Amino acid sequence: MPITTADVLAYLQRSADVIQENKVYLTELDSAIGDADHGINMDRGFQSILKKVTAVEGKDAGTILKTAGMALVTSVGGAGGPLYGTAFMQAGTAVGSKYELSAEDILLALEAALKGVMMRGKSHAGQKTMIDAIEPAIKAMREALSDGAGTQQALDQAATAAEQGMKDTIPMLAQRGRASYLGERSIGHQDPGATSSYLLIRTMAEMARLEE
Ligand code: ADP
Ligand code: MG
Repeated sequence: MPITTADVLAYLQRSADVIQENKVYLTELDSAIGDADHGINMDRGFQSILKKVTAVEGKDAGTILKTAGMALVTSVGGAGGPLYGTAFMQAGTAVGSKYELSAEDILLALEAALKGVMMRGKSHAGQKTMIDAIEPAIKAMREALSDGAGTQQALDQAATAAEQGMKDTIPMLAQRGRASYLGERSIGHQDPGATSSYLLIRTMAEMARLEE
């Protein structure tokens, strides 16, 4: 079954709920190696998304995702908001004027999102950031789809890989963002951005399961 623009809107709505449910958790993670605002930032950003996307209901998937990205960039300060904003805007550009998305379109959107984060953040995997959850998820999804998996199975594998990637940030030395100021003291803590990325990818998999 193709993913419709109504599904994309439902995904943003559900993600806003998940972020709100995890607001304290994400902020706690950020209090260990950052400035204790990641949950607050993400919640503010996703609430802003919900307000802004009502104006583009019925439009193509690219417009919806770009509007979501703009909402993040304009409502959230710091590093996380603009990076996620770029991710959503690039995802929107990747899907363009489509009204229905296949699993391959989702993969292309995720790849574009990752590329956006890497360029804007001047970062790559292994530096204890959101990239450490997103990149393995994309790899797992790409492999699953090329092995003939369906959308739901591919997204499940992406979510599993994102979770592992998130956990793998614990022993890493932070090399980007505020956590990098801590040097060796950043070791032993899970990265907040990798955690929110895992939650957003897991939400995609959960919604695909509901669709089955
Ligand atoms: P801030 O660090 O400005 O307080 P947040 O707390 O909202 O912003 O987000 C912090 C998260 O942003 C980090 O946990 C990390 O995953 C991510 N991050 C920070 N800098 C970069 C970067 N250069 N590239 C990729 N991700 C980054
Ligand atoms: Mg922070």
